[in-house]
Amino acid sequence: MRIATGSIAHESSTFTTVETNWSSYRNQRFGYRTGQDVLDFFRGANTAVGGFLAGCEAHDFELIPTIFANAQPSGPTPRAIFDEILDDMLTLMGQISDIDGVFLDLHGAMVAEGIDDAEGHILKAVRELVGTNVPILAQLDIHANMSPQMVEMADVIIGHETYPEIDQEDRAKECADVMRRILQEGLKPTLALTQIPLVWGMNQVTADPPMRQAIEYLHEIESRPGVICGSIAIGYPLADIPHMGASVYIATDNDPVIAQSLADELAAYIWDRRSDWQLHLPSTTEALPTGEAAGQYPIIFADRDDNTGGGSPGDSTGMLKAFLDAGLQDACILYIVDPAAVALCQEAGVGAELELTVGAKSTPLQGKPVPMKAQVVTLSDGSFTYEGPRNRGLKSTMGPSAYIVQDGVHVLLVSRREQPFGIAFSLTMDLDPRQMRYIGIKSSAHFRAGFEHFAGNIYVVSEPAVHSAATLEGQFKNLGRKLYPEYDL
Ligand SMILES: [Zn+2]
Repeated sequence: MRIATGSIAHESSTFTTVETNWSSYRNQRFGYRTGQDVLDFFRGANTAVGGFLAGCEAHDFELIPTIFANAQPSGPTPRAIFDEILDDMLTLMGQISDIDGVFLDLHGAMVAEGIDDAEGHILKAVRELVGTNVPILAQLDIHANMSPQMVEMADVIIGHETYPEIDQEDRAKECADVMRRILQEGLKPTLALTQIPLVWGMNQVTADPPMRQAIEYLHEIESRPGVICGSIAIGYPLADIPHMGASVYIATDNDPVIAQSLADELAAYIWDRRSDWQLHLPSTTEALPTGEAAGQYPIIFADRDDNTGGGSPGDSTGMLKAFLDAGLQDACILYIVDPAAVALCQEAGVGAELELTVGAKSTPLQGKPVPMKAQVVTLSDGSFTYEGPRNRGLKSTMGPSAYIVQDGVHVLLVSRREQPFGIAFSLTMDLDPRQMRYIGIKSSAHFRAGFEHFAGNIYVVSEPAVHSAATLEGQFKNLGRKLYPEYDL
């Protein structure tokens, strides 16, 4: 069996000041890849493509690559770039003879200029190319904003069911298992979607209650007769589009009525508990005394509102200022995106002490630049290898980077936007977060997979940024429906 695969993935904030351009696809994350290079790069990695490949090898399918396009979350993709990426994938897919099935690696919260439902658009284009007899299976992020078009155009969609998301490889292998049942056992999937008028708050960590119970309920539904698979989509709230919000989608074997009733059942469970998914986010300064009173170190502060993995610039200064104002010792900030400050550090050299301003250069919404008198500890080109679980074994770079310290506050300045999924990059800079008492991280939850095992307490905090609640108030114009809690039109 010959299975074509393609990856077009982006989480698009319609509010961020960070633009998406060709460089975002070519020079961020793992670059823009085509043909055999896609398989060579991702073989064995905990990613969708790595999992598609492992699943195909297990079932003796041939996986035929097209493109890999995946930019760090940022603004909507300009239309001309989106069209060119899609055209690249369709052209290569069109050259593959005798396609038996298609695996797509998508996100679910991609917006292109003039296309609110980019994944629906991609799935429709692939459907038109391969016809109705070739099964199309897609893997999505847990933060997908699901549209009816996506469900209509795909045969089966399987979303991540972990947050932090570490099950890319497992879900892709599941896609391969479902593909085998379709191609060899005559399975006839039918997919149903129930959208929930809910903006999911920060209570999303699947290892902990109440999210753990929702995933257990999902698994119980998946074990019922005739159910192929199901997914909960938390949604991605930083998009002012009509299908923004949470949802449930379930695939059954040729039973649309059961599929819909099960999706409705799980959606009702989520809706009934709608206040359980919300979390109040304190500021760093508010959370600090709570952490000190608990006395479990290191205390980790995770700044949800400057999470580069949600499309933020990564240079807000609220947390840095809070650490300096509190006179913390053995405290570090991972990371602040500030290539200009890195350049000054490079000019000064390792060991030099210099005066510089740090952060908040992208937009005043990210706070005020912080004047520092700091020593340069380490400089690097930013290269490192992920230790996993996420991106395990893959090489990446944070771009030119500098480790500076002022009093007891240690800061990693980087040039590329990416959240810390683990400590591998910090270690290349000779900063070991495990030796710190206070760790400030620009991330919502993905850091947990690499930090939780040595963390004392973790506090998700909010500091002024392009994506903080105060900045976004009154900015949603295109939802077209009332959403819980405050997204009221
Ligand atoms: Zn996600």
